[in-house]
Amino acid sequence: MGDDCLFCKIAGGETDTDFLMETDDVVVFRDINPIAPVHLLLVPKRHIRSVNDLTEEDSPVLSALLFAARDMAVQMGVDATGYKLIFNVEKGGGQEIFHLHMHMIGGWES
Ligand SMILES: [Zn+2]
Repeated sequence: MGDDCLFCKIAGGETDTDFLMETDDVVVFRDINPIAPVHLLLVPKRHIRSVNDLTEEDSPVLSALLFAARDMAVQMGVDATGYKLIFNVEKGGGQEIFHLHMHMIGGWES
């Protein structure tokens, strides 16, 4: 699944994307069009189309995404100042790449 999926290619190491973190389940890299000083994408290696397509067996992946976010917040120095975690769902919700991902946005002056 996901032969033409950009995030499957990135997560599979087929691009020269720099990972800030890589675990068994998740990769993290910078958004190429950042809207804040810190704007990361946290992407499960497993191809899941959108939040609407989640199943029970994706539970460990979701957990991994949140724990990755917690650790990245510390690494990026935004854990104390705060940040947003956002899923854009379907076109109307702003989803542009149909491989589940979570945005971490922060780094503003507080
Ligand atoms: Zn994919």
